[in-house]
Amino acid sequence: MRRFLLSFALCVLAGSALPAQTPALTAIRAGRLLDPEAGRILTNQVIVVEGNRIRDVGANLPVPAGAQVIDLSQMTVLPGLVEAHNHLALTYKPVPENNIYYYTYVQESTALRAIQAASNGMQMLASGFTIVRDMGNNANYADTALRQAIEQGWIPGPTIINSGIIIGGMGGQFFPTPEMAKDHNIVYPEYLDADTPDEIVKAIRQNILFGAKVIKICVDCKPYGYTADEIRLVIREAAKSGLKVEGHVQTPQGAKNAIEAGIWSIAHSGALNEEMHKQMAQKGIWRAGTETPEGIPGHPVSPEAYKRTVAGLKNAYDNKVPLTFSTDADYYVEGKTRGELCLDFLKTWKDAGIPNADILRAMTINGYKVSETENTRGPIKKGFYADLIAVPGNPLEDIEALKQVRFVMKDGLVFKRDGVMTPAAFFHAGPVNGWRIR
Ligand SMILES: [Zn+2]
Repeated sequence: MRRFLLSFALCVLAGSALPAQTPALTAIRAGRLLDPEAGRILTNQVIVVEGNRIRDVGANLPVPAGAQVIDLSQMTVLPGLVEAHNHLALTYKPVPENNIYYYTYVQESTALRAIQAASNGMQMLASGFTIVRDMGNNANYADTALRQAIEQGWIPGPTIINSGIIIGGMGGQFFPTPEMAKDHNIVYPEYLDADTPDEIVKAIRQNILFGAKVIKICVDCKPYGYTADEIRLVIREAAKSGLKVEGHVQTPQGAKNAIEAGIWSIAHSGALNEEMHKQMAQKGIWRAGTETPEGIPGHPVSPEAYKRTVAGLKNAYDNKVPLTFSTDADYYVEGKTRGELCLDFLKTWKDAGIPNADILRAMTINGYKVSETENTRGPIKKGFYADLIAVPGNPLEDIEALKQVRFVMKDGLVFKRDGVMTPAAFFHAGPVNGWRIR
């Protein structure tokens, strides 16, 4: 009886005993197919997609019987782009908070910010970003909610690699009053205070329990930032659950500590110099430089500061630091979608003189590696998830071609076609991919 009850319960839990459906077959005719690894264009390629995966890719492959044909013969098809540092559940604005995000989070609920994140995610996908690393400042785990909603199949969006709450020494990046911090706990949930080894371990476990896929720490947001030993503790604890660690770094000492500890990725480039770049290259530490270009309305960068940013990126490139495309663009600029805003950061890469082929590698291959999807998602290869985009021009010749994404496929479904979002196939009234996805 007991056994019967157990198996009955398991059957109920297993739920949808739907009959197996034949997965949809699609054949994409790609006039030009960009191979970012080789930095070259292949012509007359056919990509066969079965369900959510790539079944085959090659020159002039026969179109399988019954396959729907998508004609991109006049376009350049390329793998999806990666934004390695954004905050989709944060949008600070000129009005009312004068672009100061300390005020955003006291005025906007987690629920509102989660809905903004859903919208921002679609805006990113429409610009060709199929993977976004979402690195904190997302209220009370709105980033996890976004990832789950996309993975369970409620809404379209990029694959999200989210950090949960940023862990730092007391105060995070805020400068709260004693009464707001001590009486009202105002730093939470934007930051998790973790000052002792016990608190550090507990904070990491909290994030993992609540759905983080990467750990983000503030290395040196305060003068009492983390030592190399404390960062090693973070790395060890995160590694127990298979997670990597990104460090927000803003001072030379913080950078030194993070590099010495062998952190996975360093966010922001202001504190990095040539010696550090050499060490990062040697240790294989990812650089998520978040290189803000000049000319973004409401976010002025002085000519001197911009020169330093460009020179820093060039120096990192010259020293063979593993580079990722990252923006930290978490604000509203009138007339721009979140995706368009991120693509404006190409300006810094161009000004640093980085060859288009290597900008494309940073935005694709390196992005998959820093996101740890390189064996499942990203490359247009047999067996991989079917994520791909298309533009009319050739980004190897003109990187600005990436600003004209006309076609987006995510998980084998068409999200954008002829320059228009067509998300209907992604919307569901239930968790069609499974409620167990956490
Ligand atoms: Zn950031």
